[in-house]
Amino acid sequence: MKAIEVRELTKVVHDGDVEKVILQPTTFSVDVGEFVAIVGPSGSGKSTLLTMMGGLQRSTDGDVLINGTSLMDISEKMKSSMRFNEIGFILQSSNLIPYLSVDEQFKLIDQIRHTTRDEVLLQQLVKTLDIQTLMNKMPRDISGGERQRVAIAKALYQKPTVILADEPTASLDSVRSKEVVALLQKETKEQNKATVMVTHDIELTTYCDRVFVMQDGVLTEQKQS
Ligand code: ADP
Ligand code: MG
Repeated sequence: MKAIEVRELTKVVHDGDVEKVILQPTTFSVDVGEFVAIVGPSGSGKSTLLTMMGGLQRSTDGDVLINGTSLMDISEKMKSSMRFNEIGFILQSSNLIPYLSVDEQFKLIDQIRHTTRDEVLLQQLVKTLDIQTLMNKMPRDISGGERQRVAIAKALYQKPTVILADEPTASLDSVRSKEVVALLQKETKEQNKATVMVTHDIELTTYCDRVFVMQDGVLTEQKQS
């Protein structure tokens, strides 16, 4: 079953009179339970693709379907609700709420959803991402790498069906990077999610089922060797 379907998705921007194609028409899909990597040089269009897939940025053309629902057909309100309930974003800049402590970031998710705290999942995330000592701190009082770990925990705590991760390990050391990607793989397989991860680190793609390469706005699937 397809969790994500990208159809002829295109991004063109205008720089004065000059038209620049940032993403050439791109079509691919990700099945439930599949972990996909996108690699490629800086400036090739990876973040543009990922943010359009999650409805954070408008495309010039084409469509994205998340669990069968087109992002183009729905209202902004429905899109926000979809982003909260179905799509877990792990962005390059961590998306933490500045005036809430780390623990309160998790509490807020349950408050909005009227759900009780999932202590088992939270403890698993806290342990894997090593954020126990950060729980009572404010985002401004912890390092960039720590913020990124909290952001990953938060994205997974929301139990999204689709995870879109943009260089989630960029500010982590290599041991922790592998642990985090192994966790993404485990979540994807065990919880039947669909995950797309943009990464610079080729070594991390060994955890993925398929690898795509982005080059000058053209996405190509790498043949299995
Ligand atoms: P990557 O994530 O692969 O490093 P990006 O998707 O961030 O690449 O950017 C791809 C290219 O598109 C870059 O050259 C960037 O400068 C350009 N770009 C991205 N968004 C815009 C925009 N809104 N307007 C103009 N240029 C943009
Ligand atoms: Mg990027």
